[in-house]
Amino acid sequence: MSRVFFASAKMKALRADASLPAKFRRLLSQFPLKGMFEGKTVAIKMHLGAHLGYTTIPPLFVRILVEEVKNAGGHPFITDGRGSLAGAKARGYTEETVGCHIVEAAAHNERYYITVPINYLSLESVQICGEIANADAMIVLSHGKGHGHCGFGGAIKNIAMGCVTCKSRGEIHALIDTEFEWNAEACTHCYLCRDNCPAEAISFDKDNRLQINLHHCRYCMHCVTSCPQNAIKINEEGMRQFQKGMALVTKACLDTFEPNRVLFINHVCSVTPFCDCWGFSSLPIVPDVGIFAGDDIVAVEQASIDSIKTENYIPGSLPHPYEVRDVPGHLFQKIHGKDPYLQCEEAAKAGLGSREYEIVEVE
Ligand code: SF4
Ligand code: SF4
Repeated sequence: MSRVFFASAKMKALRADASLPAKFRRLLSQFPLKGMFEGKTVAIKMHLGAHLGYTTIPPLFVRILVEEVKNAGGHPFITDGRGSLAGAKARGYTEETVGCHIVEAAAHNERYYITVPINYLSLESVQICGEIANADAMIVLSHGKGHGHCGFGGAIKNIAMGCVTCKSRGEIHALIDTEFEWNAEACTHCYLCRDNCPAEAISFDKDNRLQINLHHCRYCMHCVTSCPQNAIKINEEGMRQFQKGMALVTKACLDTFEPNRVLFINHVCSVTPFCDCWGFSSLPIVPDVGIFAGDDIVAVEQASIDSIKTENYIPGSLPHPYEVRDVPGHLFQKIHGKDPYLQCEEAAKAGLGSREYEIVEVE
């Protein structure tokens, strides 16, 4: 069983010392940072968001982390993929605010990467960004939130989608390869599927036959679950293929580091339903939870997902036409139609860690 350190966002006293940033510094003191990072270049992999998003990890927490890595004798730098850096300054991330350099993970025009074989279905290899592959150590600092394709976006998504080039990211997405089946005889043309599609991907042609624009589709399953006739089916195997692909790419990235050189930190606050790459922030759907950290990525992800509970859903926080549907499973499954635990399951199968964990709360 792996240990996951946790700092709660809840305050037990009205003192700065009892607030989350102060607890975060104490949480970091639980790890042997000197042994992990002294004399090492340390890539702090973040998702710096996009455009008008304002719910990524606040720079104050990043600065605390950078200070602690420097105090331990490490040489930290912040890194993210192509596109996120351009507007990062507007979202509060500058060298002055975070205390270290901020660099593109694969350099200008993504020309700096290494190629590693994967050999899973259509994904023969992956291009891992050079700043990641050539760093001595890494801290995966992730904002825990929902994600249209993964269900949950945390450390696994931050690595598998964020430590690779755009070309590789597209190839991982292509693993979804999901097919729809429509039963024309069962369909009563109520159009609930079309009206409940958040991507406006469904239309009916002149012969009243259902058409799905796969380019727009987010595979959220809303059409499937809203159809009263069970006339639409999706082959869900493609979802698992995608999650397995993410787990294998995560392993390939982590294998570029020596043992005990990677730390995983999930900041589970401002838990919005969508990925930070969308370029906006909608309301958080549950109250802030806190920060999870550990050296076992699977345990940290599992604990983070477990902490986001349906009973804590804040009514009215989802933008139209999303809703918490009355289907079994995790809150993100009810919203996105994806089981967020699939990625933990596949990562555990890939040998990346344990889904069994023990929480050690840091006050
Ligand atoms: S899966 Fe979601 S996005 Fe795709 S067609 Fe159905 S409702 Fe629309
Ligand atoms: S919701 Fe089902 S029955 Fe209604 S139009 Fe869509 S496929 Fe047909």
